[in-house]
Amino acid sequence: QKVDIVEMLEDVEDRFSFQMQQKDITAVIDVKEGISHAMLDRDGIDQVLDNLISNALKYTPDGGKITMEAALTGQGMLSLSVSDTGIGIPKKDLERIFERFYRVDKARTRNMGGTGLGLSIAREIVRAHGGHITLHSELEQGTKVTFTLPLVVEGGKSA
Ligand code: ATP
Ligand code: MG
Repeated sequence: QKVDIVEMLEDVEDRFSFQMQQKDITAVIDVKEGISHAMLDRDGIDQVLDNLISNALKYTPDGGKITMEAALTGQGMLSLSVSDTGIGIPKKDLERIFERFYRVDKARTRNMGGTGLGLSIAREIVRAHGGHITLHSELEQGTKVTFTLPLVVEGGKSA
């Protein structure tokens, strides 16, 4: 359906505003010029955004910042990203991070609930919509997850 991008991102922020306040985390929404609406499966994309924001919140210490950004790629795709100023992910774990049940464990996340499914589900949904998802992370600096979505879906197209 036709989705207002700013509204979609503001709604995500609203869903998490209580947890953000509790951790004194600032949310920033940055929608690049020229982006207003897109034909999207709002329920699916909400699920992706919620998984990413929930990670950003879980793995960012108090006082941090979470940024949601919408931009257009050179290939005419919509790109949505969630970045945080959190604990980051060690290099050695990056290649497996989208696998089902994979978690960077050790002491750092002992007290943080989770099954290791959020990112794998996010990737599944993004791929089902014809997009890609990538993750960049710097230990103790933060993490940025970006996913792309085709802006135009041709009706009846099978391949
Ligand atoms: P679930 O999402 O099922 O509740 P989870 O958050 O542990 O559990 P994923 O969302 O799949 O699982 O993330 C996998 C692992 O990647 C996490 O356990 C965590 O170690 C790491 N991770 C994910 N997002 C971030 C992030 N923003 N910052 C730091 N580490 C992250
Ligand atoms: Mg998660």
